[in-house]
Amino acid sequence: MLGSSAVTAPLERSVLVVLDDARFDAHVPTGYHPERAERLVAARAGLMRAVPEERRRGLEPTAATAEELERVHEAGYLRRLAAELRQGRGQLDADTYFSEGTYTAAWLAAGSTARLARELLRGRGGRGFALVRPPGHHATPNEAKGFCLLNNVAVAAASALAAGARRVAIVDWDVHHGNGTQDIFERDGRVLFVSLHQADLYPHYSGAPTETGSAAGAGRIANLALPAGGGPEVYGEAFRRVVLPLLDRFEADLTLVSAGFDAHARDPLASMELDGASYGAMASALVAQAERAGHGRVAFVLEGGYDLVALEGSVAAVARAALGEAMDLPSGAIRSDDRAAIEQTEAALAPYWGELSRPGEGWR
Ligand SMILES: [Zn+2]
Repeated sequence: MLGSSAVTAPLERSVLVVLDDARFDAHVPTGYHPERAERLVAARAGLMRAVPEERRRGLEPTAATAEELERVHEAGYLRRLAAELRQGRGQLDADTYFSEGTYTAAWLAAGSTARLARELLRGRGGRGFALVRPPGHHATPNEAKGFCLLNNVAVAAASALAAGARRVAIVDWDVHHGNGTQDIFERDGRVLFVSLHQADLYPHYSGAPTETGSAAGAGRIANLALPAGGGPEVYGEAFRRVVLPLLDRFEADLTLVSAGFDAHARDPLASMELDGASYGAMASALVAQAERAGHGRVAFVLEGGYDLVALEGSVAAVARAALGEAMDLPSGAIRSDDRAAIEQTEAALAPYWGELSRPGEGWR
């Protein structure tokens, strides 16, 4: 318990709990790959620049247990993955490599993100930032894909539920659809999954507005599939019309953010037009919503983002917002196809939530 003693005292809004470990840097590609160790170096630099040392608190990384992982991944998949990783170096699919340090990095990333979620749940109003690699949101119950092996944010959400959270919200603003997270929770009424992503991008088969969840999870999946080229105003409008009203009504005990930074205009893998300030504004809106909901708990978990300059600046903006710096959501004119995309999501969710952007039950 030594390692966690720093954060067992009631968490304060003036302190950011930071999860980081040099072992995440030992997951390394052979030759060039966009998901590289330098990403975390840049993200770290942004966070350090934005948050003075006395306002950071560390969290000792811990490897995920089988129990934690098996809440979201199939035991057979975990056995196959571990066996494959023991071979040292290779590919799990065309996009997803592994190296000698991958097993340790992946198990630490998932276990520590879960620990961060539990620590925030224990406190009041805590914010956290998990600077983890490899990323997680494409990993399904039984498949590694899209640079992802274990679904860190899903393992964390499941861990929070097992530790007593009644409901957990996951907001995924990575530019790619979080297919793995959706797969894991689409029948689970305790998890709200809201994704903002570029339409018709990897993984291609998922992320349509019509995918809204099923069984107990009906209406708990919200997909905003945004046309390429959309900028800050589009995300601002999607937040005002869909993301924030949904969060207000869902009344989670904890908000987890799959924080990819590849919708940045500089990113080489996608075609959206956000800037660092846009990410700060979205983070600020989520922190304000968490306060409005009464729990105040928000954890940002690194997913994608492949331009180092964009990563550093965006992580810095999010870290400042996490510590309470207020930033306004962008507003202004948007294209008609952007508006149509947002309206498709509203229409798909209407059977479950009614008219979202009109204040209704659950609004305060
Ligand atoms: Zn991505």
